[in-house]
Amino acid sequence: MSKFVVGLTGGIGSGKTTVANLFAELGIDLVDADVVSREVVAKGTEGLAAIVEHFGSSALLENGELNRAILRDKIFNTPSERKWLNGLLHPLIRAEMLTQLQNATSAYAILVVPLLFENGLDSLVNCTLVVDISPELQIKRTTERDAVDAQQVKNIIASQASRDEKLSKADDIIDNQGDISALRSKVSALHNKYIKLAAQT
Ligand code: ADP
Repeated sequence: MSKFVVGLTGGIGSGKTTVANLFAELGIDLVDADVVSREVVAKGTEGLAAIVEHFGSSALLENGELNRAILRDKIFNTPSERKWLNGLLHPLIRAEMLTQLQNATSAYAILVVPLLFENGLDSLVNCTLVVDISPELQIKRTTERDAVDAQQVKNIIASQASRDEKLSKADDIIDNQGDISALRSKVSALHNKYIKLAAQT
């Protein structure tokens, strides 16, 4: 039987990680796209070997791990190289996410992806959950969390799918404007809903 998967997304600073951790506290297995995208280029992977074959060993740090800064430089102004890298990484990331989701043992699993809709990964999940807050609160919470200024957060928000687009594509929306205890009870209600949905699938 294939696993029931909830795709969790939301803009920067909306509270994806916080929500994901609350589901994890309820025993739900998480697959995190950011983690997977690092795993597929870890030392010893075919992903890293292909990068070195293409870009040369300057793409490696002295310890044999990927030199992300150099790689970013190499693709920054060269669309063909960026395309090559995406062509390599996207299938590897997708395959590894599917493997990890299938290996999940909880009643359902959650796939956490910042750019779920932008990268078409909503096709991998049974339903989508968008964490939503206002852009003003995104800026406030992100600048309090990270060493970034308001303009940098605004630029990132502008590069992501708009709030309206995400909300219109969402199967479920979690409003995270309130405090953590309000969030916890919303997560708990959704958890009960997903258990039922997973049992019917
Ligand atoms: P994302 O993963 O979507 O970027 P995070 O889960 O890291 O967002 O949340 C952004 C910041 O806001 C974090 O510092 C987090 O602790 C804080 N945060 C999340 N939800 C709430 C909330 N309901 N009330 C107050 N702070 C929150």
